[in-house]
Amino acid sequence: MSEGRTGARIADEAIRQVRERASLVEVVSDVVTLRRRGRSAVGLCPFHAEKTPSFTVSEERGFFHCFGCGAHGDVFAFVMRMESLAFPEAVRRVADRFGITLPETAGPRGRTAEPLVAVNTAAAAFYQAALAGPMGTAARDYVRERGLRDETVGRFGLGYAPGAGEALVRHLRGKNFPAEDAATAGLVLRRDRPAGVGGVFDRFRDRLVFPITDPSGKVVAFGGRVLPGRPTTGDPPPKYLNSPESPLFRKGQMLYGLFQAREAIRRTGRAVLVEGYLDVIACAQAGVEEVVAPLGTAVTVDQLRGLRRLSEVVIACFDGDQAGRRAAARSFPTFLEAGLWGRAAFLPAGEDPDTFVRANGREALEECLAAAEPLVEAYLEELAGPRRDAVGRHAEAAKEVTRILRRVRSPFERDALARLAAERLGVREEALREEGRPEPEPSARPEPGAAPVPGGGPEELLIELMAADPEVADHVRAENVIPDFVHPLWRRTAEALTAVGHDPLAGVDVVPKQLRDRVARRVLGEDAEEDRARAVADCIAAIRRRRLRGETRRLRDEIRAAEARGDAAASAAAVRELQRLMDPDSTQKADKIGADREDERGSD
Ligand SMILES: [Zn+2]
Repeated sequence: MSEGRTGARIADEAIRQVRERASLVEVVSDVVTLRRRGRSAVGLCPFHAEKTPSFTVSEERGFFHCFGCGAHGDVFAFVMRMESLAFPEAVRRVADRFGITLPETAGPRGRTAEPLVAVNTAAAAFYQAALAGPMGTAARDYVRERGLRDETVGRFGLGYAPGAGEALVRHLRGKNFPAEDAATAGLVLRRDRPAGVGGVFDRFRDRLVFPITDPSGKVVAFGGRVLPGRPTTGDPPPKYLNSPESPLFRKGQMLYGLFQAREAIRRTGRAVLVEGYLDVIACAQAGVEEVVAPLGTAVTVDQLRGLRRLSEVVIACFDGDQAGRRAAARSFPTFLEAGLWGRAAFLPAGEDPDTFVRANGREALEECLAAAEPLVEAYLEELAGPRRDAVGRHAEAAKEVTRILRRVRSPFERDALARLAAERLGVREEALREEGRPEPEPSARPEPGAAPVPGGGPEELLIELMAADPEVADHVRAENVIPDFVHPLWRRTAEALTAVGHDPLAGVDVVPKQLRDRVARRVLGEDAEEDRARAVADCIAAIRRRRLRGETRRLRDEIRAAEARGDAAASAAAVRELQRLMDPDSTQKADKIGADREDERGSD
């Protein structure tokens, strides 16, 4: 049984069923673009930055392993790590996704284990109903004026937050949501002095509301836009207002529209980055669906890394004016740090994607995207400045480039940037390389406590085979060869492996770090079945032969020593033992071996 945060328990049998029915490939595909390779699928690891896909998923075994950073496990491990959830919540999330009812989810609270998602979902439904209802007239007019069709409004879940100030508070209270959850989710604010319903009021008032979802479509936050022409008292309210950060909502890590854009990004092999909610929605409505936006701030390294897992091609849209070019130049280091070169599509001056696509249509936007130039061009152009020959300017630009070079982990990218920069800025490439050598990576240090172990040998190989397959572990135990293991680490590991039972994935965790990739390869089914059986038999035979050789040597020494001191009885006993060892079926020939020992001595 597994203990949940709500105290609810999930039976092991239910967990097993969820694991069996869930598609690991489908879950991973939410965040990683996978390609088939043999019996598995591979993609860029979501847990570390990499250029070559080493993240491998086996649907058949329900197992993933990264050959780069060693992350591995089953569908629950993936969801736990990806979404920072505890085990029971990960089980619920996966069960939810595949429509599996867990016996206890209809527990005392009658809601999911994630109260913040629940309260956000309820708020989103409330806002949507308000947009469609009598209070939503002005907001509907505005939506229509922006040219948004009903299906688009539905697809992005647009809503309206009534202006009264306590509409949502009352609604959530009526549905028995704890006030604390609504406050943590950032939906309601507390008043300084007690007034209204329990001293709290709605954060979003008289605004068009954009639900912000995580990549799996759960509502985690909201953005709200003021309606045009509304009378304001005192300070004008900000045009856009976002939910505050919460346990669900990390502004710098999420992208608006990613849930809706994911399929299109995969299909088209590119992602388009725009600035605002309405840019995303207008482009998507026009048919360019692979569009996302950061959440009210400049795009971050984390956001770009997330995008990069889906596509290596990211085109950012900028206003074609001077400020837009400067913005493009400034964004380049962030792209590069995320392992992306990025491209910049410059719209005609004064346009944003929303106004542009509404006025000119999809074809014009496609042309603009097709003409996108590498971000590095805009960056170097900005660095070099209008007077490329100015000496001070060059030195400063070179210094800036070396600062960025130091942050680039990939040697290929460092090379490419150094070469381009040297060309554009007219400085020596070697000087840039020398100055821009990267700071040592902290994770490059060897792990403390990872003691060196002897490499190769039948014990190590047998451990690998046992860890990959519980049946091999059973077989090895039945054959009783573990006591013959020479190296204590391997003996301990073998014993541990026979004790983990039949969880096919537990073995990977038991073996020392340096064996995990090889075990994973076998779990992923990258070796042939017959080869495995033969390897097991060979290892067992080799370990036995080695023990036999050791025993034989020991007994011969003993016989020699006994003879030297004239102890005939001890000598005869050792001879008999030696005989049993060489031929377990018969002890009849003991005397004969004793008689032959002179010859053996001669050949030794
Ligand atoms: Zn990794």
